[in-house]
Amino acid sequence: MDKSLEFTPPHRCYIDGAWVESDKGLRFSSIDPATGDILAEVPDLGALETQSAISAAARALSDWRSRTASERGLFLRRFGELLGDHKESLAQLLTREQGKPLLESRGEVSYAQSFLFWFAEEGARLYGDIIPSHTIDARLLVMKQAVGVCALITPWNFPYAMITRKLGAALAAGCTAVVKPAEQTPLCALALARLGEEAGIPRGVFNVVTGDAQAIGKTLMSSDIVRKVSFTGSTDVGKLLISQSAATVKKLSLELGGHAPFIVCEDADLDEAVSGAILSKFRNSGQTCVCANRFYIHESLYDSFAERFAEKISELNVGNGLLPNTHLGPLIDLAAVEKSERHVCDARDKGAKVLFGGSRDKAGGNFFQPTLLGEVEDSMQILQEETFGPIAPLVRFSSDEEVLRRANSTPYGLAAYFYSRDVGRVFQFADDLDYGMVIANSGVSSNACAPFGGVKHSGYGREGSKYGILEYVDIKYLLVGGIGS
Ligand code: ADP
Repeated sequence: MDKSLEFTPPHRCYIDGAWVESDKGLRFSSIDPATGDILAEVPDLGALETQSAISAAARALSDWRSRTASERGLFLRRFGELLGDHKESLAQLLTREQGKPLLESRGEVSYAQSFLFWFAEEGARLYGDIIPSHTIDARLLVMKQAVGVCALITPWNFPYAMITRKLGAALAAGCTAVVKPAEQTPLCALALARLGEEAGIPRGVFNVVTGDAQAIGKTLMSSDIVRKVSFTGSTDVGKLLISQSAATVKKLSLELGGHAPFIVCEDADLDEAVSGAILSKFRNSGQTCVCANRFYIHESLYDSFAERFAEKISELNVGNGLLPNTHLGPLIDLAAVEKSERHVCDARDKGAKVLFGGSRDKAGGNFFQPTLLGEVEDSMQILQEETFGPIAPLVRFSSDEEVLRRANSTPYGLAAYFYSRDVGRVFQFADDLDYGMVIANSGVSSNACAPFGGVKHSGYGREGSKYGILEYVDIKYLLVGGIGS
């Protein structure tokens, strides 16, 4: 049963357990991407307020990390339960602020909750080691200790789940945090802060600052108090953060861009492959870093796959995510629409066929039609970079060797999908695809118990799972000598 959350203005940021305005009274707008309406104004913070948030997190650290893991887990569990209590209001807010259809928004609230529940338990399993000693008069131990104050910088495409995936792990490990959400989705982040406060998480343990990305980013990156940064976003900003972290030698986890191949082998189950392709491509209107970005179809199946895929795509409704029966909401902004349009035009100019859609949608300024392109070639932009829009380009291939080479010929390495019923081929592809996540015979892979992350220019570090919490600890080696003397 949903308890209605009242998000009444003025919306404020959350620092040291208090709700604060920008020092200079600056605010910026959160905009509904479906209508262009201003939803609310939120504080536009900069360096000074970020410094306060870092100091608050530093003050809260010693008490928080000295609590037992199970006590921290209870706070996270309560936090997660509150997400469940307010599921419907959170979903409505998410659809208004980010655009995804309500059904997907409800799914994201549950997904966000699953990280809080997962890490509520995982904190208590941060075991150390006792190492057989190299000498009889010493004992060697390994402990895992919280890294300290963390900066968590998150994107707009999953504005709840990307925060809880980082915050759950950080808090469970005994760290404190400053969260910097994307400027497109500040209200979702502030809603989480409200629930974290209601869960009784002590003041300063987590703080949320909305505002000027560059000023906040620079303050977080140059601070010697911040020992760890976890970032999800573009490869360009990720590379900037790597360079900015050098002066203070921070620990980093980076989940950056993708360019996922989706391969349909000659022995694939075609109906399953088409269903997986719909899920993988059109979730969140194509705006996830693990969305399939290029479809390699074996030449023997190409025509029938194209026909069935086009038929399924034609059943997708574009519209405001609040309306029932909407499958595709708006893109986040006009720049995203322009990028989709650019990819379609470039492909068409170079000889691709538009098999479905191909244009902006009549639903409004930020809407783009679900689009299927045929006869796409390597020279086209869409095969070289992430679209982050609802466009599926089809490419023919004729051998495993060829498709693996083409799938790997990108600087990115986040997720790769393929369909095959041949167990030998499944393991061969799993070995040979240079990606952090390889998904056979499914279009969706993300969940709290699995390690999420990439290789190459898609970043490093893992989130979720038993590995995710390790990003927030340092290994400490303890030698106890003088034994028996
Ligand atoms: P996208 O292109 O998907 O919006 P970005 O990488 O620009 O991805 O944004 C992801 C997150 O990084 C957002 O919270 C954004 O505000 C933040 N960000 C953008 N530029 C910087 C920067 N220079 N320093 C720190 N954070 C930044």
